[in-house]
Amino acid sequence: MNKKGLLIVVSGPSGVGKGTVLKQFMNDPELKLSYSVSMTTRAPRPGEVDGVNYYFVNREQFEKAIQEGDLLEWTEFVGNYYGTPLSGVEKLRNEGRNVLLEIEVNGCRQVKEKCPDALTIFIVPPSMKELEKRIRGRSTEPEEIVQQRLAKASKEMEMTGSYRYVVCNDDVELAADIIKVIIKRHMEKDF
Ligand code: 5GP
Repeated sequence: MNKKGLLIVVSGPSGVGKGTVLKQFMNDPELKLSYSVSMTTRAPRPGEVDGVNYYFVNREQFEKAIQEGDLLEWTEFVGNYYGTPLSGVEKLRNEGRNVLLEIEVNGCRQVKEKCPDALTIFIVPPSMKELEKRIRGRSTEPEEIVQQRLAKASKEMEMTGSYRYVVCNDDVELAADIIKVIIKRHMEKDF
């Protein structure tokens, strides 16, 4: 029988480059990763695909999912709901897949309460100045939202202590290699 897969939480302030880092190894067959697609009420960014990047829903649909207990965790982040659909996560882990959640700090806290053995990783930027540059660089949102994301980023940076590993994304390949090593070691050995 397959060994149960890991539950991996990756957090980090918006703009830190989580997606770019994860893309480097998401399809590496050795790591047996499955990405948990979140549900959100925020509007899709250009190029984002429903069911791939997120399940894009309205507030009513999201609130129904909360009420029906369909979410492993959820939060409100700068005016929108984000949450992890429960369906799939356990099934995939029981099949031996390592399920990766890319979620923010409130969500991670909820996951740790329910699954204390979750492997938690926080990605930090090389500096807050660099983070601001990255957030502004990719933003399609109004200045008010950018400001809220920056304020939230500072708050999130105070939470690194509650994660098992903190990895700096100064160099994408290096950050990806470090996370790969962490995942491989946790696959081989129970810590
Ligand atoms: P963005 O709008 O930039 O895609 O995401 C904003 C923040 O929400 C990011 O920090 C992202 O990791 C987080 N996030 C995405 N999906 C979820 C989720 O399902 N639950 C929680 N708690 N946070 C999420």
